[in-house]
Amino acid sequence: MSRSAKTVVPVLCYHSVGDVRRDNTLRWSVSPGDFDEQMALIRERGRTPMTVSGYAAVLRGLAPPPPRPVLITFDDGFPDLAETALPVLRRHRLTATAYVIAARVGTAPPPDGDPSLDWEQLRELHAHGVEIGSHSRSHCALDCLRPSELHQEAAGSRRALEDGLGTSVRSFAYPYGYHSGAVRSAVRAAGYTSACGVKNALSHPNDDVFAIARVLIERDTGTAGIGALLDGTGWPLAWRGERLRTRGWRAYRRARHLLYTARPQLTQPPS
Ligand SMILES: [Zn+2]
Repeated sequence: MSRSAKTVVPVLCYHSVGDVRRDNTLRWSVSPGDFDEQMALIRERGRTPMTVSGYAAVLRGLAPPPPRPVLITFDDGFPDLAETALPVLRRHRLTATAYVIAARVGTAPPPDGDPSLDWEQLRELHAHGVEIGSHSRSHCALDCLRPSELHQEAAGSRRALEDGLGTSVRSFAYPYGYHSGAVRSAVRAAGYTSACGVKNALSHPNDDVFAIARVLIERDTGTAGIGALLDGTGWPLAWRGERLRTRGWRAYRRARHLLYTARPQLTQPPS
């Protein structure tokens, strides 16, 4: 496939916009000033912002791709998405998709844990055109779960978000980007019409609608890094299927999950 700007679809994956640590690191927190610059650059480059469900319609052949599409996504549902990122998105007239962890919405953070968006903030985001998607119920590695647990994470989170928001939830993002055939089937069976992975690769009109490739944006990515991403340089085009090392890593994690859930007296290490 040619690597022309026409066929390359950058799908950016942000987490936090702020200067506080999330998951005990600043790595996934983009400073507000940098975020503003990055959104301004996307506008300057004449990119057309899309939600993931809008892009999914293109991938399914139901809609033509707009000129020079770009997708902005946020994982994990930190409150700064509503407090800091939303005003910037609105100022630059950009839309986005927010993937939230259903069981954490509106709950108090655990000791030393990160806060979550509440329902009012989620409804505000939705009212301003931000698509709300599910990032599972509890943010565990789905490809290690038993079928009943998987059902709770995929279908249960969708139901909880739809009940809380009063609108349909159509897109899913796999925690840590981990998915397998069983995970994709459960997500499809739960009624979602698209799902995002990570891959750190550029999406394109032949990408897998249930494993849309995204690029993780880090604190150090910088505006120059976003420029390279929009140029389609520095990242590969998304490939179909899984790499051997992905399968090997899953086999290891799955064995560990079964071991720790079968012997609950052991303390599961952090993932
Ligand atoms: Zn996540």
